[in-house]
Amino acid sequence: MLRLGTEVVIATRNAGKVKEFEAIFADKGIRVRSLLDYDGLPDIVEDGDTFAANALIKARAIAQCLHIPVVADDSGLCVDRLDGAPGVYSARYAGEGAGDEANNRKLLKELAEVAEPEAKADGITVLSPARFVCAIALVDSSGQPLAEVQGVCEGAIISEPRGARGFGYDPLFYVPDKQLTMAELSMEEKNAISHRGRAIEALWRALETE
Ligand code: IMP
Repeated sequence: MLRLGTEVVIATRNAGKVKEFEAIFADKGIRVRSLLDYDGLPDIVEDGDTFAANALIKARAIAQCLHIPVVADDSGLCVDRLDGAPGVYSARYAGEGAGDEANNRKLLKELAEVAEPEAKADGITVLSPARFVCAIALVDSSGQPLAEVQGVCEGAIISEPRGARGFGYDPLFYVPDKQLTMAELSMEEKNAISHRGRAIEALWRALETE
């Protein structure tokens, strides 16, 4: 815990993610900064084959620039009927620089070609089982790994977007236990069950047992 100190940088410019990390780290008295607080950082090429490899690449690169502890996550959506796609390509599924809407449209288009829609009693149509996966790497100020963990949230892709909260694929990701999409959950509800929430919990467990 001492090596983490009172401040960490979250290696992301995604304001939605920063908020999720802030909510969780605030509880522990740790101040969260993000890449939005720094100018002139290099672009990092995330060319790992796995979420875990990409998280470590990001964390190391930022720690080596800023010389403070860094938490990096790499996450994405794995859809069973698309053989795990979009996976590590989740952010740029519809092409480099594609936004959430374009990625969601592409997801529905790809699934329309392979999936048999399944109407459910609660009024939704499921296209495929899916999961969000989040890998987190924590490195110290010199870039040495202190912890590497992963969290998973199981759910299903539905045929129509629902809800206006969250980001990314949230409106298409249905959580059976809640009978709601991720985009219909409050931030607290999402943090409690999300891949990122679970990965952050796993990070804390890893630090406590260090
Ligand atoms: P990143 O590489 O960890 O920033 O995440 C890659 C992409 O996965 C994001 O751009 C989103 O499209 C998707 N993603 C990751 N986490 C979530 C989430 O909590 N909800 C919806 N989409 C997500």
